[in-house]
Amino acid sequence: MALAQPGARVLQMGAGFIGCIIMEALAARGVQLSVVEMGDRMVPRMMGPTAGGMIRDWCESKGVAVFTGTKVEAIEPGTPLKVRLSNGQTVEADLVISATGVRPAIGFLEGSSITCLQGVLTDASMQTNVPGIYAAGDCAEAFDKVSGKTIVSAIQPNAAEQARVAALNMAGQSASLKGVTQINVLDTLGMISTSFGNWEGVHGGDHAELTDKAAGRHLSLQFDGDVLVGCNSVGWTDHVGVMRGLVEGRVKLGAWKQHLQRDPTQLMQAYLASAQAQGGWTGADDARRR
Ligand SMILES: Cc1cc2nc3c(=O)[nH]c(=O)nc-3n(C[C@H](O)[C@H](O)[C@H](O)COP(=O)(O)OP(=O)(O)OC[C@H]3O[C@@H](n4cnc5c(N)ncnc54)[C@H](O)[C@@H]3O)c2cc1C
Repeated sequence: MALAQPGARVLQMGAGFIGCIIMEALAARGVQLSVVEMGDRMVPRMMGPTAGGMIRDWCESKGVAVFTGTKVEAIEPGTPLKVRLSNGQTVEADLVISATGVRPAIGFLEGSSITCLQGVLTDASMQTNVPGIYAAGDCAEAFDKVSGKTIVSAIQPNAAEQARVAALNMAGQSASLKGVTQINVLDTLGMISTSFGNWEGVHGGDHAELTDKAAGRHLSLQFDGDVLVGCNSVGWTDHVGVMRGLVEGRVKLGAWKQHLQRDPTQLMQAYLASAQAQGGWTGADDARRR
């Protein structure tokens, strides 16, 4: 008998990107779903408090029991399983799913001379500190121009681009990584949210926000000077390519920054006026098509 049959009690640990995708499938099967997230909101590594709160409200309106700021402390065997939470509650479940994140499996490098932080540290050519040894993909920690930090960004476009750069250098050509793409477009039970670049903002940077909870729409823009360095959106499917183009292209917005601070919805107009005038990002055609 399938454990995730209609009516089954399912508890999912983790409400990150992958967890939200799994929830979609579980909800479609008609299970009684509880989600436990240790962060103070849903999708805490991608979404700010307003966006995370809206996603939580949306999930609860669909019948999902959401526990944030809560850890699973123990799972007692039996039928049903008894899941002990850090808030003192015990939830009964027929099935427990762990969606608590990915971590590079780099333990085998312990004791080697290859420098590892969260992942295997590389330079812009994807070479480690040991000449001739390269890393790429989910195991690599590469420099991200947008945030100014090295990060592990475990998404497919980064893996493919890092592999291309590593391969060219290994074959004796010269190539360097332009940056690490930080793009996430998420569908949580039908609510679309996005996060790009430095969505938490930068020290001393400006911030513009528009939130209409009743309409399920939220847009948060983060600036460094007159450059859009990151954004979060909920319920906003127009011009997603423009958000990416402005962030990755580090487009200087000039006077358009003030326009966006007054009305963040003017992203397409800002893009057309600023990016194209400056030669723009190479994904301009993508952005125009959206
Ligand atoms: C459920 C899920 C959903 C995802 N959805 C998206 C998405 O919507 N969009 C997106 O962009 N990305 C998504 N990703 C991330 C994406 O799959 C990864 O970023 C991408 O696969 C990374 O490629 P990779 O080659 O670095 O690693 P992998 O694809 O994981 O390949 C690594 C391979 O190396 C093998 N391996 C590991 N250790 C060793 C070893 N010591 N020796 C030999 N072989 C080894 C593994 O078995 C594996 O086959 C998702 C990931 C998951 C898990």
